[in-house]
Amino acid sequence: MSRHNRVAIGILLIVIATVGVAWGIMRRSPVVTSNKLSISTSFYPLWFFASQIGGQYADVHNITPSGAEPHDYEPTSQDVVTIESGNLLILNGGVEAWGDKLKASLKGTKTTVVVAGQGLLTHTLTENGVTGVDPHVWLQPQLAADEAQVIANAMIAADPVHATTYQENLQTLLSQLSQLDTAYRLGLSSCKQTAFVTSHAAFGYLAEHYGLTQQAIAGLSPDAEPSTQQLADVTAFAKKNNVRYIFFESLVSPKLAQTIAAEVGAKTLVLDPLEGVSPQDQTAGRDYVSIMTDNLHNLQLALQCTK
Ligand SMILES: [Zn+2]
Repeated sequence: MSRHNRVAIGILLIVIATVGVAWGIMRRSPVVTSNKLSISTSFYPLWFFASQIGGQYADVHNITPSGAEPHDYEPTSQDVVTIESGNLLILNGGVEAWGDKLKASLKGTKTTVVVAGQGLLTHTLTENGVTGVDPHVWLQPQLAADEAQVIANAMIAADPVHATTYQENLQTLLSQLSQLDTAYRLGLSSCKQTAFVTSHAAFGYLAEHYGLTQQAIAGLSPDAEPSTQQLADVTAFAKKNNVRYIFFESLVSPKLAQTIAAEVGAKTLVLDPLEGVSPQDQTAGRDYVSIMTDNLHNLQLALQCTK
C-alpha cells in the first residue's frame, strides 16, 4: 500500500469514528420537549383562530387535512394520539360527528375539550322531515369573534404565563373580524337582489345577519344528496328571484350547481364555506380573512350591489 493510500484510509477511519461519536451523542441526548401549548382543532376556521391567537406559544394541529371537508371526516389513529397528548381540543360543535365520542374518552385526561360554538348554534334546518342544528357560525364575523374569544379564554386558562400575548393577538384578530363585518354591512347595503343559491346550507347565519335569503341545493352537509323535490324547489326559487349566479364550493363537485345554472340561464361562482382551504390556496397565502373578502366580492357581483 502506498503512503498516499495509507493516509487516505487513515482520514476515512477518523471521519467514521467522528461520525460515530457524534451519532452516539445525539442518541444519548434527551428528547427536547416543546414548551408550547399543544392544541388540536377540528377544521380550518378554528385552526386559523387558534393559530392567530397562539402565535409563537402554540403548536396548532388541524385534524381535517387541508383540502378535505369536515362534515364527514373521521380522525386517524395518529390524530387521536396527538389529541390525547395535547392540552386543548377545540371543536365547533355540530360539525364533528366524532367529537362526542372522543369527548367521553378524554374525560380524566389532561386534554381539555373546548366547544367554541357552544351557545351560538341557534339555527336549525329541517330537510326531508329531519331537523338538524346549523353549525356554520364561523361564516358570520361577529359569531366568529365570539368563537375566537372562547378559544382565547381556553388558551389563557391552559397557559396563564403567556396571557398578555394571547390577549394582544386576540385583539388583532377581533379587529380584523370587525373590519370584515363592516365591509359586509357596507358592501351589501345597496344591492338589487337579496336572494342567493348555495351548494350546501352553510350561509344561514351570514344571510340572517346581513338581511339576505339563502336557498341551498343540498342541506346542512355538502354530501347530502338532494331529492328531486329539493332540486325542483331550488330551480323554482332561482327563477322566481331572477338569480344570476348559482354558487358552488371549491371542495365539492360543482356539477349540480352547473346543472341548475344551465336550467335557469345563470352563471356559476364560488362561495367558499371555509370548511377547508386547499394546499394550493394556503401556499398562495389565502386565509380566513382573504377568502371571506373574496366571498363578499362574489356576493356583491351576484346580488348586483353598487357599493
Ligand atoms: Zn357545512
